[in-house]
Amino acid sequence: MSTAAAPKAQTSDIVGQIVYAVRSMGVAPIPRNYQLFYEAYLGSNPELTQELAALGNRATQEELDSLSEIHLGTGHIAVIERAHVKLLGELDALLKVLRQEQNSLESYNRLLGETAHRINSKSNFSADLIRNAIGLLSEATGHTMAHGERTVDDMTQRSQEMDQVRKELDEYKRIANTDSLTRLANRRAFDEKLATIFDNQGSLPITALVLADIDNFKKINDTYGHPVGDKILATVASVMRSNVRKDVFVARTGGEEFALIVEGNTPDEVMIMCERIRRALETRGFRNSRSGINYGPVTISLGYAMASQATDPGELYSHSDTALYMAKNTGRNRSILFEESMKKDYVGKSWLIYKK
Ligand code: GH3
Ligand code: MG
Ligand code: MG
Repeated sequence: MSTAAAPKAQTSDIVGQIVYAVRSMGVAPIPRNYQLFYEAYLGSNPELTQELAALGNRATQEELDSLSEIHLGTGHIAVIERAHVKLLGELDALLKVLRQEQNSLESYNRLLGETAHRINSKSNFSADLIRNAIGLLSEATGHTMAHGERTVDDMTQRSQEMDQVRKELDEYKRIANTDSLTRLANRRAFDEKLATIFDNQGSLPITALVLADIDNFKKINDTYGHPVGDKILATVASVMRSNVRKDVFVARTGGEEFALIVEGNTPDEVMIMCERIRRALETRGFRNSRSGINYGPVTISLGYAMASQATDPGELYSHSDTALYMAKNTGRNRSILFEESMKKDYVGKSWLIYKK
């Protein structure tokens, strides 16, 4: 490098040339030497430029310090050294902040921005400062990357654990809401569902509650035994399920009692659905495939009411129950829609409550 006065150049070019000169002259890469070469490079002091050039690549540190003392003054050197320490201190403080906030990529970006700004505004000190700063930054990068990888690993593991917990909770919820004999929703799930019917006032006119009860089931149980009764209960459940739309909520609410919540159908359409179930059971025939014993037809009575006929879940249930009571009382194996006029005939009577 020539130590002659230099035209205006980009800071990075100047630093590059000074670094090259310091290296090629075998000079120790310390801040005060960079400062000396920087001043000589700028040419603001021609004597310094000439004397430094005269030393060639045999310059000792004493000779360089002497030049610094003569042309820059030791006080100036001290100021540069202090500035160097201060800059490192600032970078160190930033690193500490980064370490404290390792989980934040934003803080890393901020650190990079702030450091770049500091280096830029103080780049006339020395390339060593820049090198130190870069060293610190690469350390910060290493920390951030390692932390980032750890965070990703942690997040992956956490999300896997969360998935597992969620699956287990879903399974517990499913078990808690399922009737183990029929695999239908149980009473708990039904109560929950019933309680929400009046939440969506807009769908009230087209929501129906159907209550169903197997006819003379006690006789079947008494004649063929409880295990046969259980099998029949499970079959009745699957016949119900397979004769309604997927979105119809079907529950076993008690021993041989069932409830269906149907949304989006008129009373006539609900009647068609009830009759489809009733006919399917009536015509199905129940027989033991091994012994050939015929358990005879199993029939069911159904009563239903529309949500629009009631003001709350309790009243809706009571209306459907009254209709079921009437179906039982007028011959069984029937489907009946609730009507207000039924109330006077069945006042104080409730099929499901009455029978318990
Ligand atoms: P109704 O037509 O009047 O409804 O007559 P029913 O015999 O069906 O009614 P009742 O309430 O007198 O009898 C219901 C029977 O259901 C009594 C009980 O033995 C039987 N039951 C209740 N839960 C179960 C169960 O989980 N498994 C079996 N196998 N039977 C049950
Ligand atoms: Mg019964
Ligand atoms: Mg019953």
